[in-house]
Amino acid sequence: MLNDTSGFISEEDGTIKVRSCAWSPPGDHPVGCGVILTVKDGKVVKVEGDPTHPITNGRLCPRCLALDEVMYSPERIMHPIKRAKEDRGKDKWERISWDEAYDMIEAKVRDIWANWGAETIFTLVGTGRECTLYAPVYGPAVMNTPNGNSTAPFSGQACYGPRATISNYLLGSGYPEMDFAQYFPDRYDNPQYEVPRYLLIWGKDPIYSNPDGFFGHSVIDIMKRGTKLIVIDPRVTWLAAHADYHLQLRPGTDAAVGMGMIKILIEEDLYDHEFVNLWCYGFDALYERVKEWTPEKVQKVTWVDPEQLIGATRAFATNKPSTALWGVALDQSRASTQAGMCFLDIIALCGYLDVPGGIVLSKPTSFIGQWRYDMSNTLSEEMAAKVIKDPTGKYKLFNASAAMGGVQGDTLLNYLEGELPGFRDDEVPFKLRMCWMFGTNPLACMADQPQRWYKALLPLDFIVVNDIFMTPTIMAVADLVLPLSTFAEHNGLVTPHFGRNTHMIGAMNKAVEPIDTKSDLEILIDMGKRLRPELWQEFDTAEEFFDQKLQATYGFGYEELCNDVVRQMPFHYRKYETGELRDDGQPGFQTPSGRIELYSMLLPVVDEDPLPYFEEPEYSPYSQPLGVVFEFPLVYTTGGRNLCMFHSEHRQIPSMRAMHKDPLVSIHPQTAEKYGIEDGDWVTIETPLGKCTQKAKITLMVTPKLIHLEHGWWFPEQDGEAPNLFGVWDANANNLIPHESVGITGYGAPYKNGICKIYKAEGPKG
Ligand code: SF4
Repeated sequence: MLNDTSGFISEEDGTIKVRSCAWSPPGDHPVGCGVILTVKDGKVVKVEGDPTHPITNGRLCPRCLALDEVMYSPERIMHPIKRAKEDRGKDKWERISWDEAYDMIEAKVRDIWANWGAETIFTLVGTGRECTLYAPVYGPAVMNTPNGNSTAPFSGQACYGPRATISNYLLGSGYPEMDFAQYFPDRYDNPQYEVPRYLLIWGKDPIYSNPDGFFGHSVIDIMKRGTKLIVIDPRVTWLAAHADYHLQLRPGTDAAVGMGMIKILIEEDLYDHEFVNLWCYGFDALYERVKEWTPEKVQKVTWVDPEQLIGATRAFATNKPSTALWGVALDQSRASTQAGMCFLDIIALCGYLDVPGGIVLSKPTSFIGQWRYDMSNTLSEEMAAKVIKDPTGKYKLFNASAAMGGVQGDTLLNYLEGELPGFRDDEVPFKLRMCWMFGTNPLACMADQPQRWYKALLPLDFIVVNDIFMTPTIMAVADLVLPLSTFAEHNGLVTPHFGRNTHMIGAMNKAVEPIDTKSDLEILIDMGKRLRPELWQEFDTAEEFFDQKLQATYGFGYEELCNDVVRQMPFHYRKYETGELRDDGQPGFQTPSGRIELYSMLLPVVDEDPLPYFEEPEYSPYSQPLGVVFEFPLVYTTGGRNLCMFHSEHRQIPSMRAMHKDPLVSIHPQTAEKYGIEDGDWVTIETPLGKCTQKAKITLMVTPKLIHLEHGWWFPEQDGEAPNLFGVWDANANNLIPHESVGITGYGAPYKNGICKIYKAEGPKG
């Protein structure tokens, strides 16, 4: 049955058209793009953009346009499957019913509760997908364990958490977002809105990635209206090529660039005196800290041209209003906290927070945050205390954070391995026994040192994975797979930034009945009712769940949302003047000082410096001994997005793979010539920690000193059984990533910076 409501359905010539908002699976961040799904004979036969959607206006990227290929792929997992533990790594799957799958999980969890304790179960949750809304809290709550991991299993939780957390600490705010008139129904025509004069894009390629709540083509929208660009990126992306200023930094040196910009802002008297005097705390201390960062020193450390640095800073500060975007690159270095501080300090000093054409703010917890918080409080004090912590007391901020919780990624691997100091087998208070993974494929995509993770996961008694396709991780370690419905096959809702800056809420309207698949939330409700029914009494279905949460927060119900498809939220600027950013209703910010903390009062509590500083990445041309630098003379960066693939997904979708067949390493022509490499050659990239092999793309997008390699690659067409596991070790950029090269906050890891050498390889295997 489709939804009872009909405002979003129209019928014509024997087909029905369903208006909906896209989220995952297949994988994507919560952008909520408007789609129209044409259904004939119970199947989706056409996917197109919805021109009435207020943000996306009919535009879609290739991943959504290929939805029907995903849904009807012969490789999709359509029923629950299991195999014996001794068959891990073998293609020996057996189809079972949902009841049998649920019985298996219930029996295992109850056995663990009775004999070992709930704390011996842990969960892993992948990035950005719909499950990210529920699974980080509801997954652990279903099994009564404190050991959930919400960016699974990233070293340093190096995606979104660092930015969200430093926003909490410095601004007392949810995720600050560029003002693209997203809150207004009439968008750019709204009389309150001003088109930003400059957009600073730092460590982000939003046109390709469409991250979280941000539709990247909004950058094109404002460019068409006159906005100019400043781009901070090691690569010449399309946006960098269209920028007035391109600060082409050495990856991992963002904090040094930021401190250089702050020094210029202050010494050239470019900052907003009134805003700083009224709303900022710690200006003098910040100035003392950045004084040494002359443009020449910045250039020496970061490779950024001083003229570009000075010009960009002046342009950004003197053209009011201007706006800014910050991306995952700021999370992906050890100094993520410091890089994030610099970004926020710069926009605060310029007075661009919550003004028309600037950066919009919201409270840190709204809607999702509140109900996630409520559920996280259902553990007893005794059970909550059993969260795995590093025995040396590192990563204090991590567990204090409102953005993330549970067990930190590096700590989890150490604990599983049981060999590092403080985590020896005879010292661990309990042995982990079961893992439930929600929408994550860590061996191909997120896990630093993936072979270590593979070995660490194998001894577990029982591993469950929710996904839509077979993956290297499932083939390697899973015992039971629960198949997921796509967003066209279940009801849901999508909230940008996971409710931490909600300009709209979109309905994911079911267009066709699933065959034998369920959504992550449906699975969690089903298992919650079996295992901890006392927590799940108020609703029986996902629809009732959404209805209850929407009514409690916004005063409208799920049926109304389904009918409207999109609801934009009320909004106005300068909320710090009206008390809407603070719990006590007073003007200011939800921080200890009540102001934006250029000097953080909270960070010293967790042994972190209250001010930004720069620290060389562990593997850099300047931090390693000369002999090592001589052997590994190039700098690499990773993770630039690929338009037709979401992280490790879409490799088995023919039209997407036709557009991007192989993993590509970008090499400058001079560098390629020096190493005897031609376009299309297979190339081994080797670091002091490991190696991988990708195909050469000779391009001017990188400098002669820098290469860029892609992440998330595996090969569904190859042998899936161990040890090959769909070739997951061959092109895997994470072979190069160090473990625990993390800031003392527990956040940030160098997925985007390191040193390497390259040489021609024989074939795709490194
Ligand atoms: S960003 Fe692309 S893949 Fe994601 S929902 Fe929008 S169109 Fe679909």
